[in-house]
Amino acid sequence: MSHRRQFMQAAVATSVAGAGNSWQLAGSAWAAPAVERWRAKVVRLEALTHNVRRVSLLPLDTEFTFAAGQYVLLRAPAGYLTDFNARYQTKHKQVARPYSFASMPAAGSGFDLIIKHYPAPPDREDQVPPGVLSTYVHKHLKVGDTVQLGKPRGKLYSPTEPDRPVVMVAGGVGAAPFVGLLSHLFREGVDKEREIYFFLGVRSRKDLLLHEQFGQWAKTKPAFHYIPALSHPEPTDNWNGRKGYINVVLEKHFKDQLDAEVYLAGSPVMVKFTRQVLDKLGVKKERVHKDPIRVQ
Ligand SMILES: Cc1cc2nc3c(=O)[nH]c(=O)nc-3n(C[C@H](O)[C@H](O)[C@H](O)COP(=O)(O)OP(=O)(O)OC[C@H]3O[C@@H](n4cnc5c(N)ncnc54)[C@H](O)[C@@H]3O)c2cc1C
Repeated sequence: MSHRRQFMQAAVATSVAGAGNSWQLAGSAWAAPAVERWRAKVVRLEALTHNVRRVSLLPLDTEFTFAAGQYVLLRAPAGYLTDFNARYQTKHKQVARPYSFASMPAAGSGFDLIIKHYPAPPDREDQVPPGVLSTYVHKHLKVGDTVQLGKPRGKLYSPTEPDRPVVMVAGGVGAAPFVGLLSHLFREGVDKEREIYFFLGVRSRKDLLLHEQFGQWAKTKPAFHYIPALSHPEPTDNWNGRKGYINVVLEKHFKDQLDAEVYLAGSPVMVKFTRQVLDKLGVKKERVHKDPIRVQ
């Protein structure tokens, strides 16, 4: 299979929209079908930052497959929801949230999800519950537990020109789909044919997930360019890299023109402002990839 075709099969970007400054979906949008359930066992849990956890899972059903860049619905167990409802006076019946695959598909092996915790806003902890699914993952999930998953989803996109560079722009935990997608592209040798740029924007150094891994790839893959940026560096961060919001960093980097396939994942605000920059740089709409997901 040609690299181009493999890339077409793998390339999907997830533009995540929602309320406020975080990824968020209407519970109702994902609480639906009780069909297409798969199970997976938690084999590893790892803190990537102060509020981001990597969950390594091994599917217990052999027919579970996915493509790089897709996402999967993770369901909260009924017992957990009963306790959560009692504690926070909520009325959740079924809860499932989408999480991007953060590893490449490989036959017979497991996969990773990278999940941020969404606590209640600091000034409203008495009135507002914490994020229901991310609290399950961060405060309750243990190695050896079995989780329920929905069917892997995600729209696939095909780059119009195989020689065009690939630009990925992530905000915070929006890096997750690109971990899987980049691993896949490197495995298929796409970086030998095309320049790949990965822009990652976070607030401060403590939020910079997988910095060492991306940095290592940048050292070992000549056509891979890793451009991290901090929007609000702390004085103790001793940060000599790029500063500012990632859309501004992107604009400064490419100055006045960009001819590339662009993939976005992050908060709605980040996606909105990045799209404006891409317009200014002359990137055609059909080359900016995202999933059309209804959110509120
Ligand atoms: C396609 C897609 C892929 C995604 N991939 C990832 C990924 O790889 N990694 C990742 O971490 N996330 C990802 N997300 C986001 C993820 O699906 C969830 O939206 C996120 O984990 C929050 O879910 P939750 O159940 O924890 O929070 P929710 O229960 O939805 O709550 C979200 C926030 O709202 C607050 N809240 C709750 N109730 C109220 C209220 N009554 N009033 C005010 N505030 C309230 C909570 O305190 C919390 O801060 C993705 C989203 C999409 C659409």
